[in-house]
Amino acid sequence: AGTGKFIVGGNWKCNGTAESVKSLVKELNSGKIDADVDVYVAPPFVFIPRVQKELNNKNYAVAAQNCWVSAGGAFTGEVSADMLADADIPWVILGHSERRALCGETNEFVGEKTKYALSKGLKVALCIGETLEQREAGTTLDICRAQLKAVNDVVTAADWENIVIAYEPVWAIGTGKVATPDQAQEVHAGIRKWCADNISPAIASKIRIQYGGSVNAGNCDELAQKEDIDGFLVGGASLIGEAFVTICNSAK
Ligand code: PEP
Repeated sequence: AGTGKFIVGGNWKCNGTAESVKSLVKELNSGKIDADVDVYVAPPFVFIPRVQKELNNKNYAVAAQNCWVSAGGAFTGEVSADMLADADIPWVILGHSERRALCGETNEFVGEKTKYALSKGLKVALCIGETLEQREAGTTLDICRAQLKAVNDVVTAADWENIVIAYEPVWAIGTGKVATPDQAQEVHAGIRKWCADNISPAIASKIRIQYGGSVNAGNCDELAQKEDIDGFLVGGASLIGEAFVTICNSAK
């Protein structure tokens, strides 16, 4: 099992208005989070300054949902890792399945993005996971390993200290179809073994592996009990303050 601190991320995706963000932040500020949990919330870029200013619960760090693969320049519509670091945004989510599927991000591209973001001092929540077809074909771990390898090929072993892996089966994201605790545990254990074999046993024992895919206030406790589940990456339920706080506190 992992020895790292429990970690929960909230991925707000492309949702919200100035008004809804304001009330979500208010709910988060009033929630009590266990001291020994790391939390990041990833608002859409336009709302990040507001969240940084108004979210005063010390447990929370702010994350971006994406960044560009290299330094800034003539890349219309993109935001660079340098800008995130400069704006005191410590975390970035990379390789989310929606970006892989909808924006054509390849394993190699995600690897390069991870490398560059780490070089700017950011912490990376690296998303991996299989589609339903891949699961049914029995290739779940092969897919995850290939996604991890593309990152490992371009980063150092020490870089993994600043990476959290988010295992998110594509078929469970936003579908209401959560992986069973046993299904998630099996893949998490496989991921940790891959880390031991391909990075180092020391990294494998401490790297944090989040589960993501339809986690909510009702199913988080059972999942959190699994040996190799070190936290969650939450989409839909992260937009509901009370539910998100419950999920953050599910380690106990
Ligand atoms: C996600 O987008 O990372 C996610 C896990 O979404 P949801 O919780 O809505 O399935």
